[in-house]
Amino acid sequence: MKFSDIPGHDDAKRRLREMADSGRIPHALLLEGPAGAGKFMLARAFASYIHCADRHDGDSCGCCPACRQADSFGHLDTIYSFPVLKRSGKPALSDDYLDDFKDFITKYPYMDFDRWLEAMDNINGQPLIYVEEGNELLRRLTFKTRGSKFKTVLMWLPERLQEATANKLLKLVEEAFADTVFIMVSNSPRRILPTIYSRVQRVTVSRYSDTETAAILTAGGIDATTAADAARIAAGNVNEALRLAMCTDERLRLLDLFTTLMRNAYGRRVADLRKWSLAVADLGREPAMGFIDYATRLLRESFLMHLADERLLTLNSAERAFLIRFFPFINEKNVEDLIALFDAARIDIAGNANAKIVFFDLAVRTIILLRRNG
Ligand SMILES: [Zn+2]
Repeated sequence: MKFSDIPGHDDAKRRLREMADSGRIPHALLLEGPAGAGKFMLARAFASYIHCADRHDGDSCGCCPACRQADSFGHLDTIYSFPVLKRSGKPALSDDYLDDFKDFITKYPYMDFDRWLEAMDNINGQPLIYVEEGNELLRRLTFKTRGSKFKTVLMWLPERLQEATANKLLKLVEEAFADTVFIMVSNSPRRILPTIYSRVQRVTVSRYSDTETAAILTAGGIDATTAADAARIAAGNVNEALRLAMCTDERLRLLDLFTTLMRNAYGRRVADLRKWSLAVADLGREPAMGFIDYATRLLRESFLMHLADERLLTLNSAERAFLIRFFPFINEKNVEDLIALFDAARIDIAGNANAKIVFFDLAVRTIILLRRNG
């Protein structure tokens, strides 16, 4: 991975290059910024730049042995550490999932967390960097380097460090072994334990602009109109944009759930709403929360249609066709309460409440709110 393989981020690249070129590489570095901004690619490019035997023109060469090893995930002095799920009775080590992780990075270089859950076969999982991984890192970092000047640890999502792991790593980060460079990549730096966060050197990676996001999508073979629509909705999150652009079918399925809810709520068909709530609950926790996010967006768009806003362009044709008939039912008297209702359901689902009850309750309350006329 070279810096030039990554679109944009000129400021972050400049700062990373300067660190390496001046010989002032911090022992612990944090790349922080929103999800889907390509931060892990920057981390990999930085590690390659550190290890490359022939770096020039501000980039690694891409063809020396160190670069080739790094590109094939075989670099001897590079360790990957990332959140995993505990399997019954086994210590939870990143290394046990390394092959899955390599596939994941290769397929989803913008590090789509939901895809990582899928790769571990548990879309409801809450992966962590467990304490045994901390022990393993400490053990491996006491060995001498195997030919490189530095050992690099690429850690994805330090906000998922178990507290006990963080305490183990604190020593490393604080008085790091002279030859170790920790490169952490965080989507939610505020959730990193302050003891760690206050001790790392930080580089902020900003979100991609809509134009940059659209260009990334079109480079991947997505047509320009779809790419531009998806980029606008995704607000700089390339994973989200890719999902929006690629999963037209998925969006139709979500729209179908939304229209079923609204039609049956308007018609006060309680038995059908019960059936609906069972179907949404059956999706599983993450997809159910995905539906709530989607429904909230459509409610907002419906309200904005009263203003004949340009935002209509963010809808696909099926969504537009439904909302053109539906939007009169969403008005000043109910829009805030409806959105609050969905927000509350999201919090309940995230907190593992019984999804059947949450969605049935939401459906019944929707009946009442839809009847409030502007
Ligand atoms: Zn090289």
